[in-house]
Amino acid sequence: MIKDRTIKFLRCLFNTPSKIPVEAQIEITNKCNFTCPMCPREIMDVPLTNMDFGLFKEVVRKLAGIKDFILTGWGEPLLHPNFFEMVDFVSSINPKARIRFTTNGSLLNKDVRKKILSSNIEQVSLSIDGYSYDAHNPLSPQHNGHTESKNIIENIKALASERNSNRRPAIVFQSTVQNNNIKGLKNLVEFAGKNGIDRMNLVRLDVRNATGLKRPSISEEGEIYRELKNAGRDFNLPVFFINRQGILLQMAGHFDRLCFRTIDHVYININGDVTPCCILRKMKTGSLLKDDIGEIWQGKIFKKFRANQLKVCKDCDALKKRHHH
Ligand code: SF4
Ligand code: SF4
Repeated sequence: MIKDRTIKFLRCLFNTPSKIPVEAQIEITNKCNFTCPMCPREIMDVPLTNMDFGLFKEVVRKLAGIKDFILTGWGEPLLHPNFFEMVDFVSSINPKARIRFTTNGSLLNKDVRKKILSSNIEQVSLSIDGYSYDAHNPLSPQHNGHTESKNIIENIKALASERNSNRRPAIVFQSTVQNNNIKGLKNLVEFAGKNGIDRMNLVRLDVRNATGLKRPSISEEGEIYRELKNAGRDFNLPVFFINRQGILLQMAGHFDRLCFRTIDHVYININGDVTPCCILRKMKTGSLLKDDIGEIWQGKIFKKFRANQLKVCKDCDALKKRHHH
């Protein structure tokens, strides 16, 4: 892992993309059983369907050599009827692949947990935006975002405790920072620490797609991060803020001019089209039904995107240190 990070750091620093992508995120489904207020699926006009399993296999066959697979689109991956077959298929084509996915936690029942624990899944990321669940008042108003019902809380606890001593898969919380969920996030740090969660990644809210939701200012964001990081230390929980990089990472990102994704990451949408990331899911740079990933990644369209990236991505601060809109 340290070797991979060093290589990525150097690639970013010298702005030299990898030969083929290191990481592929595959949009296996955009269906979801939640309707979170910050979810951009409607605004982005995302088709609410599953990727066909046959198409998935074709796509994965073209991705030989890729190290990291993220089986997550704009939906709940566990809703895909072939989810675990997909995981097995990735492993059969690419035995060394590191596989992860992101879930809202609502479908992690006993049967699903058993399948996760006997699969090659290396990491389960849980979207959870706070912990304010009150057993005495389960319908009390909570923060905006991914809810943490009793069912979800119990599912997370069970998954964490059913893992073997290797703590595999890793369980990571992914939480958006909003104006009204700071208390919930503090509670969540405590819950995570007490239940053996491996890491918490804080993420800045993308307000372009979240009408009515607010995020803290940059300086407030810094304060919140410090507070949560300190709270994490008390519970032995590493807390990171994706947007608040240390000086080395800032250098690697050329002080917000470069996006960390485009150096080694691709997104594959439900049609098998390769695009730069989940936000630019319509920006087709090629199709895996026709071309190899190497041809697409080194091809004219991707090169043109990289050359114009500052213009194309000007409003996006998904991985940037400053607010860009
Ligand atoms: S759980 Fe994720 S995909 Fe589903 S509505 Fe919420 S943000 Fe969107
Ligand atoms: S839209 Fe954002 S995340 Fe996607 S490539 Fe551009 S800067 Fe990176």
